[in-house]
Amino acid sequence: MRIIVIGGGISGLSAANRLLELRSEKNLSFEVILLEGSGRAGGTISTRYLDGFLIEEGPDSFITAKPWALSLCRRIGLDSELIPTNEAYRNTFVVHQGRLVSIPEGFLMLAPTRFLPVLKSPLFSWRGKLRMALDLALPRERKSDDESLSSFITRRLGREVLERLAQPLISGIYTADPEKLSLRATMPQFLEMEEKHGSVIKGMLLGKRAKNRDHYKESGARYSIFVSFKEGMQTLVDALSARLPKDALRLNQIVKRVVMTAEGWRVFTNDCAWLDVDGIIIATPAYQAAALVEGLDPLLAEDLSKIQYSSSAVINLAYKRNEISHPLDGFGFVVPIIEKLNVIACSFSSVKFPGRAPAGSVLLRCFVGGALNPEVYELDDSRLINTAHKEICSLLGIKGEPLFALLNRHPQSMPQYHVGHLKHIAQINSTVSKHKGLALAGNAYNGVGIPDCVRSGEEAAEALLSQILSKDGS
Ligand SMILES: Cc1cc2nc3c(=O)[nH]c(=O)nc-3n(C[C@H](O)[C@H](O)[C@H](O)COP(=O)(O)OP(=O)(O)OC[C@H]3O[C@@H](n4cnc5c(N)ncnc54)[C@H](O)[C@@H]3O)c2cc1C
Repeated sequence: MRIIVIGGGISGLSAANRLLELRSEKNLSFEVILLEGSGRAGGTISTRYLDGFLIEEGPDSFITAKPWALSLCRRIGLDSELIPTNEAYRNTFVVHQGRLVSIPEGFLMLAPTRFLPVLKSPLFSWRGKLRMALDLALPRERKSDDESLSSFITRRLGREVLERLAQPLISGIYTADPEKLSLRATMPQFLEMEEKHGSVIKGMLLGKRAKNRDHYKESGARYSIFVSFKEGMQTLVDALSARLPKDALRLNQIVKRVVMTAEGWRVFTNDCAWLDVDGIIIATPAYQAAALVEGLDPLLAEDLSKIQYSSSAVINLAYKRNEISHPLDGFGFVVPIIEKLNVIACSFSSVKFPGRAPAGSVLLRCFVGGALNPEVYELDDSRLINTAHKEICSLLGIKGEPLFALLNRHPQSMPQYHVGHLKHIAQINSTVSKHKGLALAGNAYNGVGIPDCVRSGEEAAEALLSQILSKDGS
């Protein structure tokens, strides 16, 4: 028996790894092959080492509250490689009227868990603060099953919360348009808070207490909310690649299409070769998956291609520390769209994690593009770098030129979870289930973060294997 995984990003690597785990747990015998279209595994994840700097070209960390990535790290022996964020600087800024203002302590994504820091914050007007507090008194509103982030925040907490904080925070994760982003698919806990407690703020306060208890119980408070690896995110990719049997990871293999045969499946690659297999996990972006199944199931292909993506770029800039006047006493900043800048967020990488820059220098990571700034992504490389440099110079009081600047583009890399996303995914899943021996994994379906992708890959592996092994395939 042979199972093929298409796409060697974290979703595909996790799927292949889980298949191998199940093979040994269940004492089975089958071959696993991972076909990756590019010349390297990891997809969006990539770490570069340059002149003593450790540079993340894609993601720089992952959240531990969603357990799947952490659990994978533990199983493959990467525990000791994990590093927490620098607790001394747990603070994030937001640009407000052209300068950096701390996000009020205890403000989590959409709503506050503490009142005093919000009252003292210059981020909101008095009218905005009162409007936010109105959430405690407003009645529940029975909206249809799903709702946009923008609609929800505006009716519960007011427009200021949306424009000045929630929009940039959410943009930093989903690079999405809040008018279109599905709350049900991205942060259902807020809808549940309204349903259960009649108020988001009340739900946050109660949830905070429970979470504190659970956090200490589950992770022994050893891990911070976000973790990375001493040697960068590439550690995870390298460890998963190294666990694959010799010759299982095949690079530069662009899969063109998959077809069903009397015995199973046939996978065609760019070099006009094909492989006959018993099961397939497609772990590519949804629009690529659509192209692969076009001949097999045009309706499935159409549904997959309806999932839209946005493009973004990461610009790593290194400076001498003494040429920056800002204390850099935080993990970075986010930029509301109303501030009309081109940079959407910036991480102070060498403050956030140790070992990212040599002594006396600083590494900063800017993000541009996304669904709300697509035209910025289209700028040529040098203009893009220059724009980011100029904007952070003015925000952080930087005097000198960068020691270096590295630009990494991530075209069509972030799926947009628009209102109705979950129903759309349920429809895709139901169609896929009609094709025995086919499974999908990736960031397009049930979460964009690394832990979600790990879960997606692992669940696809489990579902596919049990389906293939079951006699009737039901
Ligand atoms: C700039 C940026 C920063 C991010 N930061 C964070 C972060 O800090 N923390 C976090 O948790 N998440 C972050 N994310 C999200 C997260 O990194 C991604 O959602 C995740 O890495 C996607 O993994 P994937 O395997 O699903 O897809 P991808 O990484 O896109 O991998 C898909 C793979 O499939 C291959 N492929 C495509 N078509 C074919 C084909 N026809 N044949 C063979 N191979 C094919 C591609 O070459 C690629 O390697 C970030 C995302 C971006 C873009």
